[in-house]
Amino acid sequence: MSEQDCIFCRISRGEIPCAEVYADDRVLAFLDLNPQKPGHTLVIPRRHYADVFAVPAEVFSEIFPVVQRVGKAIMDATNAAGLNVLQNNHPAAGQSVFHVHWHLVPRHEADGLCHWPMGQYASKDEMSELAGKIKACLR
Ligand code: AMP
Ligand code: ZN
Repeated sequence: MSEQDCIFCRISRGEIPCAEVYADDRVLAFLDLNPQKPGHTLVIPRRHYADVFAVPAEVFSEIFPVVQRVGKAIMDATNAAGLNVLQNNHPAAGQSVFHVHWHLVPRHEADGLCHWPMGQYASKDEMSELAGKIKACLR
């Protein structure tokens, strides 16, 4: 997907309309077209990065103050009791737009959205073995 065709690049360039809630020269936030709940907002860097792995470290310091500020504004505007901040990478994890974005979803008590089911490890050994395996993969 080229930046020319990328739907979020096109929104950032103003070629496709969006319901904007925040904009500066580096970061944009707008309502998700198909919200999990009213007020569901997407925060994106204006520059195109396919997923979280492609984002340079310094860009997070541009994104996350906006996530905090817009997140609080969403909660105030929707009288929410909580907020989910979610970010999907690769189709297996539910990513459908390949321009990195953070979902901000306002939450109310017993609002019908399900949390992920909790799993468990067969044993403490299995758990620490996997922790070690992940540690060994750190680059
Ligand atoms: P993800 O599945 O994490 O890649 O999320 C992509 C999100 O983008 C989905 O929740 C879509 O509803 C949303 N989306 C796709 N196109 C648009 C658009 N033109 N304006 C606003 N949100 C969009
Ligand atoms: Zn893009």
